[in-house]
Amino acid sequence: MDTRAVRRVVATRPARDGAGVDIRRIAGDPDLDPFLMLDEFGSDDPEGYIAGFPEHPHRGFETVTYMLAGYMEHRDSTGRQGRLGPGDVQWMTAGRGIVHSEMPMQASGRMRGFQLWVNLPAREKMGPPRYQEYAASAIPEVAGDGWRARVIAGTCRGTTGAVSGIATSPTYLDVALASGHAFQQPVDDGHSALVYVYDGEVTIGEARVPAGQAAVLTATGQVRVAADADASMLVLAGRPLGEPVVQYGPFVMNTREEIQQALDDYRAGRIGQ
Ligand code: FE
Repeated sequence: MDTRAVRRVVATRPARDGAGVDIRRIAGDPDLDPFLMLDEFGSDDPEGYIAGFPEHPHRGFETVTYMLAGYMEHRDSTGRQGRLGPGDVQWMTAGRGIVHSEMPMQASGRMRGFQLWVNLPAREKMGPPRYQEYAASAIPEVAGDGWRARVIAGTCRGTTGAVSGIATSPTYLDVALASGHAFQQPVDDGHSALVYVYDGEVTIGEARVPAGQAAVLTATGQVRVAADADASMLVLAGRPLGEPVVQYGPFVMNTREEIQQALDDYRAGRIGQ
């Protein structure tokens, strides 16, 4: 089977979001359709996360929060609330709209995690909001020669992930790879794929990909990652939508008119009912 090459290696940009949370971000790459953005957030210093993400809306896409360390509390305007701890995942399909807050549940210690934004096809942008939340213990794990994968979505060596029924058929794996070993993952031809390294360093083809950087891969063949040192990474893939993307902050629609409608709906209190 062919192996995907690296189109380019992209470094995350340091940024602040929410009320002042330190993040590292990759966003706006058309070769990553349906993925709109990947943030790694967190810090050892509470100053880098304590302000959290106070109440804000989303419409037209999905937010996927995956924690490595620390605790976040989620609340939405319908009264729903929950806690995310190390290894837990929340796949939130905002659909026509959710108003929520995402706030740290700790005043000290380490916080670390990821938020991935996954676009929705036009026909599902105004669908009902949906949550899929899984504790770390409910996320399947697969291990092979020198690697271990947590299967959040998609399938790895016959093991199907916790999250299901997502429009873009995503693969979301958290892979730990030991020095001197390789990991291979088949991905449907035509699906976008990236490998985001969060600890250590890997090699994909000729390209070296250190922590804090992502390899954007070509469109066909399987993903193959080798490690010269112990490394941890997210392996993400999904079916591209090929639809126009018009984004205004937390709203991602297909046209400017739909963005204006989202703003009008939010101001009139029609989102998150
Ligand atoms: Fe949010």
